[in-house]
Amino acid sequence: PQEFSVLGLPVHLMTNYPSWLLECLQQGRGTHVVTLNAEMTMQAERNPSLAEVIQNADLVIPDGAGVVLYLHYLLRQEVKRCPGIELAEKLLQELGEQKTATNVFFYGGASGVAATAAEFWQQQLPNLSIAGTHSGYHSPEEEEILQQTLTQLQPQVIFVGLGVPRQELWIAKNRHLCEQAIWIGVGGSFDIWAG
Ligand code: UDP
Repeated sequence: PQEFSVLGLPVHLMTNYPSWLLECLQQGRGTHVVTLNAEMTMQAERNPSLAEVIQNADLVIPDGAGVVLYLHYLLRQEVKRCPGIELAEKLLQELGEQKTATNVFFYGGASGVAATAAEFWQQQLPNLSIAGTHSGYHSPEEEEILQQTLTQLQPQVIFVGLGVPRQELWIAKNRHLCEQAIWIGVGGSFDIWAG
């Protein structure tokens, strides 16, 4: 992907993000996806750990209108906005249509929200393989169980909806558990999918 800098943070531009991610999956290339918006760039300015995690992410997509506008003026060319929730939905759809099953995992949200979101997607996409779900509020002991679960299941796509910056920092800390997986921070997407 073409990489550009927005306030010291990388943004990658390409025409088709889902197909790039499917390639990563095929090649077993572990990937951390960050969906960048203006609020996040401001948080990164105050939070060096978040800035570092974004700088080390494999794919940073322009999620917010402000980031798109900035790039538009910088590059003097059309830049397409790619909201994170839309990328997540497209990826799920593609996975649900593939012949070989890809295991996905939903982590985050209040009790039961990720499970309800998973049910919603399972109904939409009967061939989608949801390996498991976990709520985003729990004790440190439960976090250990979650880490063991991920290590055992080795899901190939892990959606993490803990909000910014919690989800980005959590992914950076835990992505070694499933080295070949795609890890993507999805904010409040589970709430929306759960209805
Ligand atoms: N959340 C969570 N655990 C926490 C804090 C937040 O699972 O300790 C979830 C919360 O339930 C919500 C999401 O994280 O589903 C945050 O959504 P929000 O829209 O605030 O995220 P943003 O995309 O704006 O960062």
